Amino acid sequence: MRKTLLSLAIVAAALPAAHADEWFVEAHYPDHDALVRGASLFQHVIVDTERQVLRVDTDDEGIRQLEDAGLSVSIDAADTARLRGFYATMQQAVESRAPQLTDDGYPGIPGYPCYRTVEGTYQTMDDLAAVHGDLVEVHSIGPSWQKTQNSATGYEMRALRVTNLATAATDPDRPKMVVFGSIHAREYTPAELLTRMAEWLVSAYGNDPEATWLVDHVDFRFVLQANPDGRKKAETGLSWRKNADTANGNCARNANSSGIDLNRNFPFHWHTTGESGSSSDTCDEDYRGPTAASEPETRNLVAYVAGSPGTDGVYSGGLLPDRRPDNVSIASPDDYAGLFFDIHSYSKLVLWPWGDTTNAAPNRTPLQTFGRRLAWFNGYTPEQSDSLYPTDGATDDNFYGTLGVPAYTIELGVQFFESCSTFTSTTYPKNFAALRYAARAAAAPYRLPGGPDAYGITATAVASGAGGMYTTVSATIDDQRYKANTQTSFPIRAANAYVDRLPWEPGATPIGLSAVDGTFDAKAETVRGDITLNGLAPGRHIIYVQGINTLGGGNGTPGTPNAVFVDVPDAPQMVTATPLVVGDGAIDPSSPQSVAAGTILSFTVTPGTGQHVESIGGCPGTYVAPVFAAGPLLSSCTLTATFAPDQFAIGGTIAGLAADGLALSLNGESPLSVPAGATSFAFTGTLPYGAPYDVAIETQPPGFACTIVNGSGIIDAEVTDIAVACGPDASDVIFRDDFES
Ligand SMILES: [Zn+2]
Repeated sequence: MRKTLLSLAIVAAALPAAHADEWFVEAHYPDHDALVRGASLFQHVIVDTERQVLRVDTDDEGIRQLEDAGLSVSIDAADTARLRGFYATMQQAVESRAPQLTDDGYPGIPGYPCYRTVEGTYQTMDDLAAVHGDLVEVHSIGPSWQKTQNSATGYEMRALRVTNLATAATDPDRPKMVVFGSIHAREYTPAELLTRMAEWLVSAYGNDPEATWLVDHVDFRFVLQANPDGRKKAETGLSWRKNADTANGNCARNANSSGIDLNRNFPFHWHTTGESGSSSDTCDEDYRGPTAASEPETRNLVAYVAGSPGTDGVYSGGLLPDRRPDNVSIASPDDYAGLFFDIHSYSKLVLWPWGDTTNAAPNRTPLQTFGRRLAWFNGYTPEQSDSLYPTDGATDDNFYGTLGVPAYTIELGVQFFESCSTFTSTTYPKNFAALRYAARAAAAPYRLPGGPDAYGITATAVASGAGGMYTTVSATIDDQRYKANTQTSFPIRAANAYVDRLPWEPGATPIGLSAVDGTFDAKAETVRGDITLNGLAPGRHIIYVQGINTLGGGNGTPGTPNAVFVDVPDAPQMVTATPLVVGDGAIDPSSPQSVAAGTILSFTVTPGTGQHVESIGGCPGTYVAPVFAAGPLLSSCTLTATFAPDQFAIGGTIAGLAADGLALSLNGESPLSVPAGATSFAFTGTLPYGAPYDVAIETQPPGFACTIVNGSGIIDAEVTDIAVACGPDASDVIFRDDFES
């Protein structure tokens, strides 16, 4: 204790005077019980489990409480200086009364110009609705506490709806993604994160494929400023968390500690954990209010999201369907469509129910799977809400508990008053990515995160081939995107593309994609495939890609899809290439081919047996046997291939020819004179493949008799085996012998 006070004194001397009671501290906890005792003193802490320290900004009173809880506290001088620097900056900005504007010109928080004020947020909503009336509505959902007291003060609470309104009426099952921001007033980052996401959805619609399909198929409801009265106080630099209700929540000791913690005031399981998950002290940061849903803000939010319960306890009339009994042991159906998020700061956590008990929620496995997917994007710690300390009457338990909707709390970053550079470079992009992933899963959040994610989807410019117009789609299918070493990921078993329809839309037709490495066997696969586009209207179309892993066996588990645009050109001029065969042979394809002008078409030219290509032409192109590449085809044409039989020479050998006068005939014609002494002969000219040939002695040489072997046959190659054998004429010898005797 003495050591701590000494270090406090030394550090204090080096720090700005503003908020001289505010410290950023590290508290070492000896064991888990001490961590729980320490963490439950604050509603937001950063836990480093490796070093066994808890980090939090607090005051002298908080330091004393931590030490009483058995933790040893030391000051982080650098972060304390930063914290006080922020306060000083803000104080200066407030005092200067200079208008603070965001980069887009909206009113910003003094000293933190990247964060829109309540007014700046409301003005953004109005502008979005004015410019994009086809995609945006602003809903009034009821007055804040101050407005209920005096209608000239406080705020009408608002929700921003972003979806394709033209098609919404005919798409009643469109899943709703409901997100609250900054229900704790001093948490600057949540409202701005969600406002920027809404702006992206609207401005990127039609230009970015992901924004476009999400706006077309998800009904976003952002309550950007869920606690506007309290937020207005926090915008002056007060570390204000609760609402502004000084009737139910008057703190006599310190007016700046008045109000009700709205995130402990929700009706489901309100005040179920005694004093550990919420407080009965009006001055405490987590004062739960005198009764469940005592606050108008709470009632407005419940009515908007859930509606009201009937006599059977089933809620109706709100955004999200009530699909489970309020019995904590009964699971919500796993085809639940829709999502609830409540975005807070700080602690870098992704939390799911339950918060008021360490017991597992009945949908624990899919809640955890989805939470670990989300945490891959923002790098935060995914865990059940009650892992560190209990909370009761909180939003996520309320909507999961009453409706069965998958419900999450995300704790952004490491500070309430996060610097604009940290927010812009880190907190915003990481959590924007996490929320986009969530939206991609909104149609079935208990199912789709079990399958792999699809990303990096590209499509080549539309080309024309023998089968017509097509594009080549590539993507990565990855099941390993989990922030948890203990989560099992699975090999990819398939991937499909879908043209203009989400995989689960009626009429969606899967087009199988191939693994680029040849085999689906890894937990991440690059996939590719040609998608034919014949019959599509000219203009912009969207191609979805969805991967499937082996989880669950059988057909596996399909994951979250994503998409790419493909622009189909105006109907091209069509030309026809008509193949024509003359003679014995074939052209493949053999039927007329109609293609876009400019296309190059390949025809394979195959002569029949013993035939050859005599000529080919009639269409522009080049012939390199066996392929004629016809094109570019600028007008219709006939590709004529003329085939002709192969031609062969006829000849053979001669033996014993000692005199002139031998003449041979071929098929009774073309006498060929063979001189004495010849040992071979060949007819001039050739005969075609398949023709009969018959070689005979037309004239014997005087005094000789010649005979022929192999003299006839059918030509199927060069004929070289005709053998002519000559010798003295035997009959002449006999005659002479007779004559002489
Ligand atoms: Zn909070």
